[in-house]
Amino acid sequence: SCSFDVDEDSQRVRVAVRVRPRNAEDLLSDADFADCVELQPELKRLKLRKNNWSSESYQFDEVFTESASQRRVYEVVAKPVVECVLNGYNGTIMAYGQTGTGKTYTLGRMGKEDVSERGIMVRALEDIIANVSPTSDNVEISYLQLYMESVQDLLAPEKVNIPINEDPKTGEVSAPGATVVKIQDIDHFLQLLEISESNRHAANTKLNTESSRSHAILMVYVRRAASKKNEDMATTQGHDHTVDFLGGNGIPMIRKSKLLVVDLAGSERINKSGSEGHLLEEAKFINLSLTSLGKCINALAENNTHIPTRDSKLTRLLRDSFGGSARTSLIITIGPSSRYHAETASTIMFGQRAM
Ligand code: ADP
Ligand code: MG
Repeated sequence: SCSFDVDEDSQRVRVAVRVRPRNAEDLLSDADFADCVELQPELKRLKLRKNNWSSESYQFDEVFTESASQRRVYEVVAKPVVECVLNGYNGTIMAYGQTGTGKTYTLGRMGKEDVSERGIMVRALEDIIANVSPTSDNVEISYLQLYMESVQDLLAPEKVNIPINEDPKTGEVSAPGATVVKIQDIDHFLQLLEISESNRHAANTKLNTESSRSHAILMVYVRRAASKKNEDMATTQGHDHTVDFLGGNGIPMIRKSKLLVVDLAGSERINKSGSEGHLLEEAKFINLSLTSLGKCINALAENNTHIPTRDSKLTRLLRDSFGGSARTSLIITIGPSSRYHAETASTIMFGQRAM
C-alpha cells in the first residue's frame, strides 16, 4: 500500500518538527530553564515564545517532543515515503535545521550499540530489504556530498565534481560516474555508511570545513520486477519516469523508483560581516541552496505546476524526487534553548512555508 496519498487537494510535503533534548550546554546557560518553545504534540502544535507574555502558535503535520523515539519518528515521517518507494514512486526525506539540533541523529544514526537508536537511513534500508525479492529485485545506493555546488562521492572520495544529468525524455536525474553499490543486507549497508562517514570526515578536513557546511544525500535505487500483486501501482505519474516498464513481448517489466534521504547543511546564518574569504563563500553557497530549496518547497506546497529547481545543484538533484507523484517529508529540527530563539524562529518559518 501507499498510505501517503497525493491527490489534487492533499499536501505535497509533509512537515514534522522534532525538538532535541537539552544538552549540558543548554542546562548550563539557561539558568532559568527558559524554553523558547512549548509543544502540544496531541494538537500537533508548537508555540514559539515571543516574549514573556506572548507566543505564536504553529501547526505541523507532526510534533515530536524530546522524548520521541527514533522508531516513532521513522514510523510517522519516513515509513509512508518508503512504502511509496516500494510501490514505484520516488520519494524524499529531508532534515532541515540549525547545526546541533539533531538532523544527523534523526537521519544518519547507525545505532551500533543499540539498534533502538537507529535513524531513518538504516530503518528505511531495513524496510526496503525486507520487502523486496532477493532474487528478482535490486537495491542499490549512492552517497553524495554537495559542498559549494560541487558534488562529491562519499563512497569514492577521489571522485569530485560529479555532474548532474537529467534525461531529456524521462526527466530522470542521475549523477553519472558516482559509485553505485548493490546492497546485500543491512550489515553491508551499515559498513558502507561507516565508510562514507569516515570519507566525509577526511574530505572535509582536507577542504578545511565541517560536515555541517555541506549536504549529504543518500540515494537508494529500487528496481523491482513487476508482478501481478503490485499492478495496482501508479498509472498517472506526474514524472512519468518513476515507472519504467520494459514490458511487452515476454520481457519482464521492471519498476524503478528512488528514495533520497537528505541531511541538509546547517541552516544557521553565518554572520556575514564577521566572516570573510572561504567562510563567506561557503555561507553564500549554503544560502543559495537552502533558499532555492525553500522556493521549491513553497511552490510544491502551493500546488504550482512549475517547481523552480534550476537554481542550485541541490534542487537539481532533487528534481525527480519531489513534485509530481513523488512523496516528500520534511523534518525540521530545533533545540529547546531560548539562546537560539532567532535560529529556531527561522527554522519554524521554513517549515511553515512548506505546509
Ligand atoms: P546536526 O546534525 O543537526 O548538527 P546532530 O544530529 O549531530 O545535529 O546532534 C547534535 C547532538 O545532539 C548529538 O550529540 C546528538 O547525539 C544529540 N541529539 C540530537 N537529537 C537528539 C535526540 N532526539 N535524542 C538524543 N540526542 C540527540
Ligand atoms: Mg549533522
